[in-house]
Amino acid sequence: MEEHDIAIVGAGGAGLTAAIYAARARRETVVFEGAVTGGQIATTDIVENFPGFPDGIGGFDLGQQFLQQAEKFGASVRYEVVTELQRTEDGRFLLHTEAGDHLARAVIVTTGAEYNKLGIRGEKEYTGRGVSWCATCDGAFFAGKEVAVIGGGDAALDEGLFLTRYATKVHLVHRRSTLRAAKVLQERAFAEPKFLFNWNSVAESIEGDGQDVTGVILRDVETGERRLLEVAAVFIYIGQTPTNALLQGLVQLDPGGHAVVDLQMQTSVPGLFVAGDVRMQAARQLIAACGDGATAAIAAEHYLG
Ligand code: NAP
Repeated sequence: MEEHDIAIVGAGGAGLTAAIYAARARRETVVFEGAVTGGQIATTDIVENFPGFPDGIGGFDLGQQFLQQAEKFGASVRYEVVTELQRTEDGRFLLHTEAGDHLARAVIVTTGAEYNKLGIRGEKEYTGRGVSWCATCDGAFFAGKEVAVIGGGDAALDEGLFLTRYATKVHLVHRRSTLRAAKVLQERAFAEPKFLFNWNSVAESIEGDGQDVTGVILRDVETGERRLLEVAAVFIYIGQTPTNALLQGLVQLDPGGHAVVDLQMQTSVPGLFVAGDVRMQAARQLIAACGDGATAAIAAEHYLG
């Protein structure tokens, strides 16, 4: 069984920043990642609010640079899914992956959050055939077509604005008449002629021809009126849920399923730290996740003594 000083689960902004700090502290550091490095920014077109990049930087590229920096200082990144995390009797941690077991003296969990689903008819059936949670990945498939975006937060506007590069019209569907998104994004969306707003509207079902999406049934929450919005794709941005499967039953969670941590990112279990969007009261911003990762790594370093 491989043994490590610090094991980090998740290679998004929090995990890779933790890896940079842990490796620079000359701790033997391993990072486990089940998908693509970079986390949520890997599928973000442009990151405009990370200090140091006044013209913005591609999310995927930034994630790759985090990775290079972590590896440069000696962190080892394994593309394996951690399926179980346990505390051993001697106070270390056992991490089980499909490729084998690992022991670590301290663990930093940075598993982030996943996009929520609407739970309506057609959503599951047409996933990958017009229903998507990633405009950067799938937007180009709908060049010259009309698409819908569900939600009124930063993600809906950010991704919706990206979609105007390809789509002839982007129909935003929001359940209220005011947006939650940052004002700068609202100003851009209101100024974009391809961006159309469907206020006080919820998606009731996603319609298709058996092969591809053909539209979405909207219900006006004030009048109850239903109508078909004909679109070739539906992009869903209605918030996120923490990816906490490894933490359930192990650490204290808040009612929303986020790990309860102190200011050092220490959970209720000594030596187990949680950083980024999976922790309680996270700002849910890349820079904040990176800051959490640094804090957790410094705390883990002190814990190891
Ligand atoms: P969010 O801020 O929680 O917004 C979710 C939106 O979906 C809200 O407008 C909400 O409506 C709506 N909604 C929630 N459940 C719904 C449902 N069942 N049916 C219909 N609409 C529903 O989530 P987010 O936009 O994913 O952003 C999450 C975090 O990531 C935020 O902190 C955000 O700042 C960050 N983020 C930042 C950027 C950026 O800076 N460029 C990009 C993406 C994400 P109500 O408004 O009525 O609640």
